[in-house]
Amino acid sequence: MNTVARGPEFMVTRADGVWLWDTSGDRYLDGTASLWYCNVGHGRTEIADAVHRQISTLDAYTVYGDFSNGPAVELSERLAAHAPVADPRVILTSGGGESIETAAKLARRYWAVMGQPERTHLISRTGGYHGLHGFGTSISGMDRFRNGYGRLVEDTSVVPHDSAAALEAEILRVGPERVAAYFAEPVIGSGGVYPPRDDYFTEVARICHKYGVLFIVDSVICGFARMGNWFGIERFGVSPDMVVFAKGVSSGYLPLGGIVVSGRVADPFYNGEGNAFMHGTTYAGHPTACAAAMANLDILEREDLFTVSLEVERHLDVALQGLASHPLVAEVRSGVGVMGGVELTEEALTGRGITTAEVFAEARARGVIVRPIPTSLLVSPPLVITWEQIDHLVSTLSAALDAVA
Ligand code: PLP
Repeated sequence: MNTVARGPEFMVTRADGVWLWDTSGDRYLDGTASLWYCNVGHGRTEIADAVHRQISTLDAYTVYGDFSNGPAVELSERLAAHAPVADPRVILTSGGGESIETAAKLARRYWAVMGQPERTHLISRTGGYHGLHGFGTSISGMDRFRNGYGRLVEDTSVVPHDSAAALEAEILRVGPERVAAYFAEPVIGSGGVYPPRDDYFTEVARICHKYGVLFIVDSVICGFARMGNWFGIERFGVSPDMVVFAKGVSSGYLPLGGIVVSGRVADPFYNGEGNAFMHGTTYAGHPTACAAAMANLDILEREDLFTVSLEVERHLDVALQGLASHPLVAEVRSGVGVMGGVELTEEALTGRGITTAEVFAEARARGVIVRPIPTSLLVSPPLVITWEQIDHLVSTLSAALDAVA
């Protein structure tokens, strides 16, 4: 907030591919795909054309009650066809946080409808980020997002992100008959880019199944080819009860998100009076947002960005690991998905008072956008980035580190 107050603001005027321009006409490499979402790169005219066509035909109309529209149905069917969820159903929203609210309420309501209303407890992971709405704030794995709002949603707890045993211990501490669901990102994103251990999700899926706890995957960052597949979690060979998505589904050209729910969890709401899931939002199933998403998915499929991204992941990993020997760097986390985290040493941060904000500013002054969090610099470029551009991204980050050293 101090940076913003000092001004002036950094005004972005135009974007194309992996590049941005500011008001002075200076060009920057978008090393973060905006906020983790612009998977197909900026300036795709075919998405603009699809939006124009749809908005000129049916701009928007509610999907309340039995209302529906072609783009919402088509998008839902397409997502369901690729989701690693049994007998999948889709609920559409306008973003990630809204989808987390939907998933959390659905989980609690599911247990109420199933005659186990005491199952309300929600477990999440340290470093996990699930947006900043009510439930998302309450299950945040980062204290800085939770503190200062009075009493949050009750019956939540956070377990260490790298230990399936800790999840099981927490379920037993709370009492399995009180636990509704467990939330996890395939790779923790905003919390610092933490890939899971090899067997983590197999163990988690087994534990959730053993105690009847709903397993909810937050793929808001990891979906739509950022991990070489549709929802990220496929990489670990498990099938969750719900998958939450947003960001890359439309590459952010228009706001869109949602959840894929297994039929087992969705069906009880249709059985019997009084079991309805009384939840929804004004822009759910917005036809123009859905048209943007479908044009985005067309690009992902036609350009086979699912395969391309695995190559990008390897090149980015090799390039970023080159920073591991930098004297200011404690650790480089990369190699699972097109994303990376460069953690500064304790000595640099606390000993010498170097901030990641300074490194970010030095990188931006050199024409590259990275993302600072308290102890790391994060990168998550558009999937269309070239090897040369990856080298430029990483060598500029290296120069920024040198500049603050
Ligand atoms: N979940 C994850 C994993 C995210 O990274 C984010 C946003 O960064 C969200 C949820 C929240 O999404 P939104 O900002 O669209 O509400």
